[in-house]
Amino acid sequence: MTSETRLPAATLPPKATSESAFEAAYAAARKSSSEGGIPIGAALARNGVVIASGHNERVQNGDPIAHGEMSALRAAGRQRSYRDTTLYTTLAPCAMCTGTIIQFKIPRVVVGEARTFPGEFELLRSRGVEVIVLDDQRCVDMMREFQDTSPDLWAEDIAE
Ligand SMILES: [Zn+2]
Repeated sequence: MTSETRLPAATLPPKATSESAFEAAYAAARKSSSEGGIPIGAALARNGVVIASGHNERVQNGDPIAHGEMSALRAAGRQRSYRDTTLYTTLAPCAMCTGTIIQFKIPRVVVGEARTFPGEFELLRSRGVEVIVLDDQRCVDMMREFQDTSPDLWAEDIAE
């Protein structure tokens, strides 16, 4: 048993990553996978508190724009400002999602993994977005399995 003390989310230091927000993104990815969809999930959080989560909906809704990040942002609805938010995502954001992150002025992105897809970290960082990569093995395994079993669907999602 550990004696680690967990701070209430509201008192998390601004730089801390929220384990619960990342787990919400991961759970959304697993949900999509269980539905036969693409296993990529995301969550938007403010001060460590999840506002909304979402997952890729290309298969479920026939929506090519509904990447995990886009679905989470849609689910979060209107926000007056994103400057105090962090976007969590299981996979490195593509160019479309990166553009949205920049447009909405989301200052920080926490990424599960970037081994199976490199994403657009250079572009994000060039626009002042802080990028944190967790290199979560569960996310790597989830994507590798998906890419191996559904190569055509994966190619479609990244426009390859
Ligand atoms: Zn995307």
